[in-house]
Amino acid sequence: MKIKLSLLILFTTYLSSQENLKNFIAPEGNILIGADLHTHTVFSDGMVWPSIRTEEAQREGFELIAITDHLEYQPHREDIPNPDFNRSYQIAKESVGGGDLIVLPGSEITRNMPPGHFNAIFIKDANKLLFENDSVAGIYEANKQGAFVFWNHPHWTSNSQGRMDGIAKLDPVHKNLIKENLIHGIEVANELTFSEEAFEIALENNLTILGTSDIHGISDWLFEIPEGGHRPLTYILSNDLKQNSIKKALFMGNTFVWFEDLIAGKEEILSSIIASNFKVESKGYTGETALLEISLTNLSSLPLKLKYIGDYTFHQYSDFLEVPAKNTITVQVKTVKRIESLMMKFEILNAIIGRKKNLHATYNLNIQ
Ligand SMILES: [Zn+2]
Ligand SMILES: [Zn+2]
Repeated sequence: MKIKLSLLILFTTYLSSQENLKNFIAPEGNILIGADLHTHTVFSDGMVWPSIRTEEAQREGFELIAITDHLEYQPHREDIPNPDFNRSYQIAKESVGGGDLIVLPGSEITRNMPPGHFNAIFIKDANKLLFENDSVAGIYEANKQGAFVFWNHPHWTSNSQGRMDGIAKLDPVHKNLIKENLIHGIEVANELTFSEEAFEIALENNLTILGTSDIHGISDWLFEIPEGGHRPLTYILSNDLKQNSIKKALFMGNTFVWFEDLIAGKEEILSSIIASNFKVESKGYTGETALLEISLTNLSSLPLKLKYIGDYTFHQYSDFLEVPAKNTITVQVKTVKRIESLMMKFEILNAIIGRKKNLHATYNLNIQ
């Protein structure tokens, strides 16, 4: 009996510590896959061996990584001849052995703008994607291989390969690729940048919303991970851990982006994420006063920046509140007289659902 009890305690402690490691709690019936779908190694213009990419991913605690070396740009070729473009993926995959990290094969199809750079993931053979003289043939071939294809950093301020004004916009070639259903997603966050214009393009054209690190060097250094930073990630709402389910979820657009202290995604997706990660509860009145205590609990790693948009005022705060990551704060609502139910309404300033649009969240509370 004693043994059983301690086992039970061990098991529940293990579960709660596992939950604590997660950056977001998944909505009921889903699992959340933290994914970096854009990374480089020495097999193109990256600075590290592929096994360092997977080791970083495991240390940072996300679930899926795609290795997406440039096909056309091979600056280390004199030292690493790279006759087989599938090698960087294969080495990365072998390096995790039986571990939990999911490693996906991919390539970056690299062209001047337009059309710019594209990643193809879930590919079968990277070697067949290389077409030196045709700007979209690689995208067609990737689609033939059943790949999920997305537009990289459409807002990159590169002279020949991007937009010098940093504004993502569609050229006729992009409109055509979208119309023919040959591209399926778009980066809204890339490395250290975020684009509301790209987000708008995603929503208007039904492209999957993505955030990636596009890491070339050491992620600890670039994203200041020891200081509490994190790389941009795409969170995929999947039914299970199977690669087919994850691929299907990507094609269906069931994602949101976590970039610095911001999440961005379609309204229905962010609503479900906020519902499972932000809990608002009545703690009753303080003594004989008309001050109603409400606890605000944030289960996620995202500090929640809130604006209260109801009619009441608080005893210790203004309308602006921050609930730190994995923390609870208590507000005292001045209800004037004692009430039996209360609607708490917030605008979540760092959950964005469109260009200059924030998510709203409403909680109906019964007061005892
Ligand atoms: Zn690129
Ligand atoms: Zn890249």
